[in-house]
Amino acid sequence: MHTLYSERESPNPLSNGCKVESLPLMQPPSPETVPGLWLPKGWESWESLMDEALREAHKALLLDEVPVGAVVVDANGTVIGRGHNSPISSCNPTAHAELTALCQAAQNVGNYRLNQAFLVVTLEPCLMCAGAVVHSRLQGVVFGASDFKTGALCSRIGALDLQFHNHKTVWAGGVKQKECGELLSSFFKKKRQTAKTAGLP
Ligand SMILES: [Zn+2]
Repeated sequence: MHTLYSERESPNPLSNGCKVESLPLMQPPSPETVPGLWLPKGWESWESLMDEALREAHKALLLDEVPVGAVVVDANGTVIGRGHNSPISSCNPTAHAELTALCQAAQNVGNYRLNQAFLVVTLEPCLMCAGAVVHSRLQGVVFGASDFKTGALCSRIGALDLQFHNHKTVWAGGVKQKECGELLSSFFKKKRQTAKTAGLP
């Protein structure tokens, strides 16, 4: 079995020496195989919706922010929210692409409940954004690249599948994952090269 990291001592002193269990590297299901993930009207594929999210990711890149982009689409196929990652430029730790898109969508429809809407995002959402997805009552989430470090839908935790939620949000991933992932890896590679040139550790 693939693992993200080998078993190691927990740094938490309250854990009484318990070890953190290895996490399996899970492949997300594709949207076509998930019941309840119907393609919003007027769109020919999830890939075409991911292109919209990628357009948002490029806006983050222009700001020198981690290039993640998101759109919220209602059941009629209308894009009701857009967002790109901007926590540094906006001095706002919650300014992830997903939250920005969800807030814009809620403002546009005049309701925080976004029933039957879908979030399409270039990177697997983090725990904060997964929580906002549940509160938004979304129908579903489709993401591009998996985030093996902090992804909260399947890579690190199945946050949308926790049994205590009173709302079920379906999800899938891997749509245009190569393009979404390469945008991120080239960004971080460039950052490392800049740091090396400047003599930073
Ligand atoms: Zn997030």
